[in-house]
Amino acid sequence: MDRKNTHILLIEDNPGDVRLIREMLGKVKLAYSFDHAGTLSDGLVKLKEHAFDIILLDMNLPDSSGLDSIPEIKRVAPKMPIVMLTGLDDEETAVSALQLGIQDYLLKDRIDRTLLLHSLRYAMERKRILDALAESEEKYKNLVDNALVGVYKANLKGEILFVNNALARMLEYATPEEMIPVQALSLYKTPEERENLIGRLKKTGHVNNFEIVAVTRTGKTKNLLLSFTLNGDVISGMIVDITERKQMEETIKHLAYHDVLTGLPNRLLFINHLRLALNQASRNQHMAAVLYLDLDNFKEINDSLGHAAGDQLLKAVPRRLKGCLRESDTIARIGGDEYNILLPHTNHEEDIVTIAGKIISTFQQPFMIDNHSLHISTSIGISLYPHDGADVETLLKNADTAMYIAKKHGRNNFQFYNPAMNTRALERMTMISSLRKAITSGELEVYYQPQISIDTGQILCAEALVRWHHPEMGLLQPMQFIPLAEETGLITQVDEWVMHTACAQARAWQDAGYSPMSVMVNFSSRHFLQKDFAGTVYRILEETGLAPVYFGIEISERTIMQEVELAIPYLRKLADDGVRFCIDDFGTGYSSLHYLKKLPVQSLKIDRSFISGFPEDPDYKTITNAIVNLARGLRLKVIAEGVENENQLAFLQTIRCDEAQGYHFSRPLPSEEFIQFLRPKC
Ligand code: C2E
Ligand code: MG
Ligand code: MG
Repeated sequence: MDRKNTHILLIEDNPGDVRLIREMLGKVKLAYSFDHAGTLSDGLVKLKEHAFDIILLDMNLPDSSGLDSIPEIKRVAPKMPIVMLTGLDDEETAVSALQLGIQDYLLKDRIDRTLLLHSLRYAMERKRILDALAESEEKYKNLVDNALVGVYKANLKGEILFVNNALARMLEYATPEEMIPVQALSLYKTPEERENLIGRLKKTGHVNNFEIVAVTRTGKTKNLLLSFTLNGDVISGMIVDITERKQMEETIKHLAYHDVLTGLPNRLLFINHLRLALNQASRNQHMAAVLYLDLDNFKEINDSLGHAAGDQLLKAVPRRLKGCLRESDTIARIGGDEYNILLPHTNHEEDIVTIAGKIISTFQQPFMIDNHSLHISTSIGISLYPHDGADVETLLKNADTAMYIAKKHGRNNFQFYNPAMNTRALERMTMISSLRKAITSGELEVYYQPQISIDTGQILCAEALVRWHHPEMGLLQPMQFIPLAEETGLITQVDEWVMHTACAQARAWQDAGYSPMSVMVNFSSRHFLQKDFAGTVYRILEETGLAPVYFGIEISERTIMQEVELAIPYLRKLADDGVRFCIDDFGTGYSSLHYLKKLPVQSLKIDRSFISGFPEDPDYKTITNAIVNLARGLRLKVIAEGVENENQLAFLQTIRCDEAQGYHFSRPLPSEEFIQFLRPKC
């Protein structure tokens, strides 16, 4: 403090006191200048006219008393330090005056020069420090309040202790106060993000540039970047809003990977998708297909109707294409009027044929562009993974080549890259449609093969085996069409037809006076996936009038594991009603002993391949022997399939196999020839 410049205003009505103070200060007059007012109003006038450094204020003035003078003075000179002069009786009031903002008070009775000077100096110094503090606080507050950066403080419990204006604004709260009652957790889109953050804070004490997705008061999401420290249980730090930056990045990314006109993936993204699809296809051993589409005569439309119409058409095409595809397929525009389609998961060529066919026919409908009805077609080239290439480049190149072949074939058609595939796909398509027809048009026939008791030579039952009298290809064996029927799902219709025919036949033989002959029908495992499988069996038994005890189902061991589990309750019900179950082709699949116990099966049929192996191969004998013993242990009957000679039968006899079936006894026969094995009812 510069003493020379200290200018004091004494507001005091008592002349004695004025004199006293004057005297005290007189001794140091070089350091202080002094002015006097006898009333408050006089003092206020002086305050307005001159600059003072400090006021000595009497508590009781003629025109004001007690604490009233203080606000009056503050109004005129808000920053002026005040030291109050009081009598002994007023000390209590003086304390209240301190709360109103005076710096100090002096008791008139105790006052002396040292005390007065000390008080004056102290008051001014204190005032200066307080002002500086207030000023710096104000500066800090402004800085925090107007910062673009959010400032945040909360405890580990998630109670928010402080936020600045910027953060409140960022999260759409009207004021920082409105955010205080909010739980920190509710600001995060996913609770895991906060857990993760707290975990890292606890570990290292700070995090820098930690990205989170926050939720605003109105439920919008924002991308925020946090830099926090943890002190005790208090988390504090800064938050920057990077939502716009993120969106910009997204837009840039989108632009890099998409076609601007159609919004479709571009060639780059298509290649990415294709690469992923190929990885997956090789892991799961399925096919993937690339379709290369080129619009036919697009140039003519562009030339005649202009580019705007051309653009509209290019946008309308993918809308049509989407209608022919699954959600998981990718359509990309790779330039001009060319599109690529990725079918990431296909099992059969005919699925691709169906899709390509659908695309070709969806173009038959004209496109309405600017009131013009435009007829346009497309040529499609198809390459298949893994047949036509194992990598992205080869598949794209080959699909492109195939597309040119399609153009050469007169446009408006599709072509596989591999010409053999075209033939194969066509053949399979034809076969599927003719099999569908065969089921209803009487081209299928059931053959019967007897199963014989090894002990007694008696015929116990007949296995129903399907045959197809193909109008052009002649008599087809099951292996020539059953796999296709299984792949396409037509097998359930075939099997139901076989069951119906065999049951009706068994019943007809009974009605004709023969002793009952049970029939065993082969059922594809597909049936067991159907909810109403048991219902179908009961219905057919009822329709044909065959008692369940004369009916049995053979399930191949190859498929038993996957599907049969779900069907166990139905199988039990059928078994309780007398239907027999046999596990066919035993030894070729993977049925665990656990399943053999769980399923209501009565017999195992040893696969033909084991029987045909002996007598030459002793290993097969050992296996067959082991299966017979295993079955006996589980109280199951064993049937040997494919018995072709006396040697095989003799061996089966020695190991006490129960039943046999094979050319040695009879080939599968049409029903009218099978009659030879029936005996009249006695
Ligand atoms: P499977 O059920 O194991 O039928 C036995 C197959 O072995 C029959 O062939 C039969 O003709 C043949 N076979 C019988 N004895 C001998 C023999 O001594 N030596 C030789 N080499 N073969 C013999 P098929 O009729 O060609 O049937 C083949 C497979 O097709 C059947 O094997 C069965 O899994 C399936 N199948 C046949 N009919 C149907 C049907 O209606 N539905 C279903 N889902 N599958 C059927
Ligand atoms: Mg069978
Ligand atoms: Mg078999």
